[in-house]
Amino acid sequence: MRGDGAHQVGTAQVLDGIPGSAGYAVGHALIVDTRRSGVVRRHVTTDSIAAELAHFDDAVARAGNELRVVLAAKQGQASRAETSILEAYVLMVEDETLRAAVEHKIQSAGVCAEWALDLAVAEMAAQLRQSGDPYLAERSHDFEFVEDRLLRTMAGKQGAIVLPKDGAPAVLVAHDLSPAETAGLSRERVLAIVTEVGTRTSHTAILARALEIPAVVGVPNLLARVGSGDLIVVDGVHGRVAITPSAEFIADTHARAGRFSDVARNRREARDRPIQTRCGQTVELRANIELPSEAEVALEQGARGVGLYRTEFLYLDRSEPPSEDEQYETYRRVVEVLAPLPVTLRTFDIGGDKFSSVFQVPAEMNPALGLRAVRLGLARQPIFLTQLRAMVRASAHGRMRIMVPMISSLGEWREVKRLYEQARREVESAGHAQSPQIPLGMMVEVPSAAVMAEEFAAETEFMSIGTNDLVQYTLAVDRSSPELAYLASFLDPAILRLVRMVIRAGKKCARPVLVCGAMASDPLAAILLVGMGLRELSMESSAIPEIREAIGNITVAEAEAAAEAAFAAETAKDIEHLLAERFGERLDIGE
Ligand code: PEP
Ligand code: MG
Repeated sequence: MRGDGAHQVGTAQVLDGIPGSAGYAVGHALIVDTRRSGVVRRHVTTDSIAAELAHFDDAVARAGNELRVVLAAKQGQASRAETSILEAYVLMVEDETLRAAVEHKIQSAGVCAEWALDLAVAEMAAQLRQSGDPYLAERSHDFEFVEDRLLRTMAGKQGAIVLPKDGAPAVLVAHDLSPAETAGLSRERVLAIVTEVGTRTSHTAILARALEIPAVVGVPNLLARVGSGDLIVVDGVHGRVAITPSAEFIADTHARAGRFSDVARNRREARDRPIQTRCGQTVELRANIELPSEAEVALEQGARGVGLYRTEFLYLDRSEPPSEDEQYETYRRVVEVLAPLPVTLRTFDIGGDKFSSVFQVPAEMNPALGLRAVRLGLARQPIFLTQLRAMVRASAHGRMRIMVPMISSLGEWREVKRLYEQARREVESAGHAQSPQIPLGMMVEVPSAAVMAEEFAAETEFMSIGTNDLVQYTLAVDRSSPELAYLASFLDPAILRLVRMVIRAGKKCARPVLVCGAMASDPLAAILLVGMGLRELSMESSAIPEIREAIGNITVAEAEAAAEAAFAAETAKDIEHLLAERFGERLDIGE
């Protein structure tokens, strides 16, 4: 539970935060002052506009170079997660849109470069925060880091954290750390990181995980409570820190740390091994992502590629659709980070519960049954074609396939195929490269598609079952209703029968079938899916280690026997019980 205050455990004062990077540490706190630089606020006259802009350009060039030096030092020894976050940071510092916004502020408001930067970033960050999407809101901090870096450079200050020379390794305590600050740290010098702000998806947390440094982020009032030199216990598993701990508390933490590092070592060793059942059958576990930066997290968690990239996030929080080039650059980055592993890009699934002002969809009585996903794509063909062209172009940079959501009839599918062929021809005549092999597949998430699975299988290259919507539409339960959650089970016999129809149809036509809905991220349901014949599952990255362990614990024969028993049961509860009875104890792997 997250609280804003501290509570007492023995002599220890325990502060709650958010688990940023798993692991435990006991050490002395080192407070680093990374508070944002003050902003110079000066009005300027028209004749100094050029000089202000030159001052800004100079800071961009110097900050960009400094970051490239950090990046070069990391090359070859850092993980892809670290280097690609730094690369993205360089791109943000040198971003043309940011420069244009700063130039506009200098001219229109008659203010100095520092002030103009502050105004421009405040506007961009506010837009992201107002999106209501926690991922985008988190990205607003990235702009603030970029601002801080540039302000420091303009003021002639240092960008990196300087740790005291030959000091003992310490627990770093800060208000916040920028990606470059975090990436510059090493496990030898830093026992753990604790910050006042941040979330699990903030770059501090992502990098701490890549560096395997325990971290707790988002600890309110941290700096008011901890001083440099204080003994501090960091619990990155549960997201807690303890100050003034007793000897007993410390001994208990050391014991937990020992157990944790055994489990972590096993998981690390497992990460690069194929994911297999106990009898040696390979099952490919892929990641579901929503933002390009999650591609790195997917790799960290051992994903064998991305099975679902929800691209609609590119369309939210803006009034004009993203251009072909902007989309191409974004998709290309994800495809390149994952290469040679495959990436499945899904065309936008807007409408229903995901609203975007790009499309100006009229208000509907039942948005989930309305102009959503592929229906919207077919109704706004120029926007759909732009996305298809951008995806086709990205295929030149790695292994990729394209998937279309919410297909409900064969006529609709044939129209999609026609547009896809058109997009390929247009990319070719524009002189851009593309892969000759881009499988085009559909999501099966509407009951009619499952019922017609054989006909669809004959005309698609792969099928991915979206159990979240399949449950919603089959059981007529709004997927966001907490009150009806008791009905919305992917273990409902009706769902299992539809899933089986799709698997059988895929087998008959030799088409790959996978599940990318939440069913795949539940250990017992994942075993059931293996028993039903699936060998490819896609899920949120954080579920991958647990599902890998679940699959590693069972044999295909056991999973098949469980599936057979499940099909004889009549309710979701019965199926849940029989799976828990057969596998529950084995999957209980403790902390
Ligand atoms: C699904 O419906 O199961 C799915 C994976 O798609 P989304 O959750 O994006 O609707
Ligand atoms: Mg869906």
